[in-house]
Amino acid sequence: MNIHLKALGCRLNEAELESWALEFQQAGHQLVTNAQDADVTVVNTCAVTKEAVRKSRKLINRLRRESPYGKLVVSGCAVSTGEAGSATELGIDLLIDNSKKNQLVKNVTDSLPISIMPEGATLPAESALFARNRQRAFIKIQDGCRYRCSYCIVTIARGEEQSRSIKDIIDEVNRLHREGVEEIVLTGVHVGGYGSDIQSNLTELVTEILASTEIPRVRFASVEPWDLGEGFFTLFENQRLMPHMHLPLQSGSDFILRRMARRCRTDDFESLVKQARNQVKNFNVTTDIIVGFPGETDQHWSESIEFIEKIGFGHIHVFSYSPRAGTKAAGMQDQIAESVKKQRSAELRTLADQMRKDFITAQLDTTGLVLWEGNHTLRSPGEQPKPHVFGYTENYTRVRTEAREAPNGGGITSCRLTSVEPGGKFADAQICN
Ligand code: SF4
Repeated sequence: MNIHLKALGCRLNEAELESWALEFQQAGHQLVTNAQDADVTVVNTCAVTKEAVRKSRKLINRLRRESPYGKLVVSGCAVSTGEAGSATELGIDLLIDNSKKNQLVKNVTDSLPISIMPEGATLPAESALFARNRQRAFIKIQDGCRYRCSYCIVTIARGEEQSRSIKDIIDEVNRLHREGVEEIVLTGVHVGGYGSDIQSNLTELVTEILASTEIPRVRFASVEPWDLGEGFFTLFENQRLMPHMHLPLQSGSDFILRRMARRCRTDDFESLVKQARNQVKNFNVTTDIIVGFPGETDQHWSESIEFIEKIGFGHIHVFSYSPRAGTKAAGMQDQIAESVKKQRSAELRTLADQMRKDFITAQLDTTGLVLWEGNHTLRSPGEQPKPHVFGYTENYTRVRTEAREAPNGGGITSCRLTSVEPGGKFADAQICN
């Protein structure tokens, strides 16, 4: 789902918004900056004065107008005091008072009947995994895809592969670097297909970017797990290429992968991951899984879970299958009941949470270079609110450290990962002197 978040009032309201943002992202949803693009808009209201209530109601009205078909969720003090307005009058789909705020993300995902499905590839502004901010920018390197995965509408909507020239991309990287960006994320519909139309390839592009720019970090967004070419992982010998790839598996059952018309079976995926892990230290593999694809029996689901456990992922985006008109999969027999998708998604999310915790735990007592991205009150259940700054290591492990401002005025700092926060979502880090 695309989620748009808005808060009025105090710092606490802002902090809550930040933690919902993180939870929504970790549950596989995307944050969008405009209500028009949102499936769900969440407003955290304020009731400290009559004026604050008036502003809250005005904002609710405006967001309802801007997103007439999206769901509208309202929480915060004006809900608890009963001043947010009647749900029917304002077109609010869900009211959540302050006492249930901690469960807001769960309530939204459980009670609003919206299925989620990936568009098929990570595109600029569509990434659930990477936040765009002052330090990080997305570079679109190509568009289109020559494949026809049976659930994917993107390829139908975007047509054949078209790559940008290497020079164009390098000019953009250099410009962004001059403007203060420290990390670029290479994105496209089928990143691995880069160059197919201009007699080039992804390896050549990355080699040129590393040679002709001084951007400190280069990262891949979502890359389909094929078309990567011989010797691809040797690129990571250059430590400016971050040791993390989001490789969408989509299912761990070969039967389902065939029905999806994917170009990668479980054996291929396993050997790709092995290659990455053998060649690159601390390599983080994250993935997407579509739950409840037509024809997915309990047997296929168990196979899939078994394979996912065998590989182990630093993060999994769990998507519930929903048919897209115009795709082959939409017309397939044996569509799966929503209740089954929901139960399987919950099972996989629990497994994914455990895997992320294991992945972070395995890195404790090691050091990483952290790019600091923001400061806010990141709080685990039961913890006292304290100011933290947060950021990501090279392999995209999220870390926090207790401070009001990013160390050394932001930028990249060496840190030791000391513990996993109780929720298992990020590591606590100590800055190395
Ligand atoms: S590889 Fe498949 S899922 Fe990815 S863009 Fe192409 S058709 Fe869509």
